[in-house]
Amino acid sequence: MASLRPVKIFDTLRGEKDTLEPIVDGKISMYVCGVTVYDLTHIGHARVFVFFDVVQRFLRHLGYEVRYVRNHTDVDDKIIKRANEVGEDPLALAGRFIGELDADMGALGVAHADVEPKVSEHVQQIIDTVSTLVDKGFAYVSDGDVYYRVEKFAPYGKLSHRKLEDMEAGRSGRVGEEGSQKEHPFDFALWKKAKPGEPSWESPWGEGRPGWHIECSVMSTEYLGATFDIHGGGRDLIFPHHENEIAQAEAASGEPFANTWMHVGMVNVAETTEEGEEIERKMSKSLGNFWTTRDVLQGYHPEAIRYFMHTTHYRHPITYSIENLEEATHRIDYYYTTMERIDRALARAGHSADNPPPEADWTTPEAGEIIETYMDRFDAALANDFNTPRAIAILGEVAKIGNELTQSNKKPSAEVAWTLYNVSARMYDSGGVLGILQREPAQALEELRDLRVGVLGLDREAIDEKVAARTQARTDKDWERADALRDELAEMGVEIMDSPEGTTWRIGKQHGA
Ligand SMILES: [Zn+2]
Repeated sequence: MASLRPVKIFDTLRGEKDTLEPIVDGKISMYVCGVTVYDLTHIGHARVFVFFDVVQRFLRHLGYEVRYVRNHTDVDDKIIKRANEVGEDPLALAGRFIGELDADMGALGVAHADVEPKVSEHVQQIIDTVSTLVDKGFAYVSDGDVYYRVEKFAPYGKLSHRKLEDMEAGRSGRVGEEGSQKEHPFDFALWKKAKPGEPSWESPWGEGRPGWHIECSVMSTEYLGATFDIHGGGRDLIFPHHENEIAQAEAASGEPFANTWMHVGMVNVAETTEEGEEIERKMSKSLGNFWTTRDVLQGYHPEAIRYFMHTTHYRHPITYSIENLEEATHRIDYYYTTMERIDRALARAGHSADNPPPEADWTTPEAGEIIETYMDRFDAALANDFNTPRAIAILGEVAKIGNELTQSNKKPSAEVAWTLYNVSARMYDSGGVLGILQREPAQALEELRDLRVGVLGLDREAIDEKVAARTQARTDKDWERADALRDELAEMGVEIMDSPEGTTWRIGKQHGA
């Protein structure tokens, strides 16, 4: 087979960017830690899901055969606690929040993984792996609980680049909560003895349930083999979760676990203090600056949310702010407006996406250069550790050509038609990799408009009436009335756009929510 474009990835384990060497030529196996399903997802989760959605889209776009596994943690302390609070069966509650997650991620255009395994459906495999670890001396039983013996696994700490002896005991909430029956403070539970009212399963150590970390070692190995190409998740999972996954998996199989580890940065929230100072803080429930994916989807278009995430490289923290989401909304509006204008211009010359204009010269050599090298430059940006900010900058260059060539409402020349057709095709093709610009432009612009109308609390009917009245005034050649109506609409933040195909409107950028 033809060799595929190599992809460079920053690997947390080696601490450097390196070319990914797939275990099997042309195929890439990837596991990403999903969510503990006890509540709605927040935009930190959405960032991880959207990012790895771009990873899988891009790898497939390059021609790799991708097998993508992302789990649902449906057995966990937090789920049990929440279920007891609301008087619901824990597994039913988890199932309900998997549905909510699917709804929100679906709205964001995040494709399903090839396999989305749940802990509750892999308990036997988990018991088998824990038994292996006990047999090999990597785990021990203590009063119905089973713990991993971290001192037995020499490389423990290799992912988070720390040494066991340097680590302070009991610093993390997830470590040390089991108390005194452990041999070492960093030993962690593989299996927890059942408490009354908790979901539990039969095991060689009595009734109980899996600890948190073991599920990912077991389910990744089950679907991808002992050694696979990419393991991903949020930065907050590096320690202890991913460190523990490595310890469990490599001790059980005797083989290397994931070859490349990718971690997505956190979400910071821009805030203004009571003293008027602009600050950024990590998003957290306890700070009260917490945004669920659903909250954000109420006010912003899914493609604007995705675009906002693409503006920052995945390894860096991203700043969540109204300003940044407004800017992303403006860009998506600009791209779709450009694509809609291109459609109209092509239609004036009797062409469409299905009926392309004949090949002609480019409008200028510079435009030709940008268009001809476009896909290669776009792919090169993403093949360099998924540099989405660079990729959208390149998208902006080609869109600018389309925008400039559609400022007049004239029938396009053969050169203009050919250039515009190619601009639109490149925007659509590369947009597919980023998960944007796949809607019909008119539909997307309508959706963007409706969201703005809703967020700003405008009266949609009143706007439609004024726009219709203005069109009538123009038909009647009552220019004074038409101008007065335009001014009234402008007052409401509504911008009117006339073209030979009719009048459309949008909410101007300056009227931010
Ligand atoms: Zn995991």
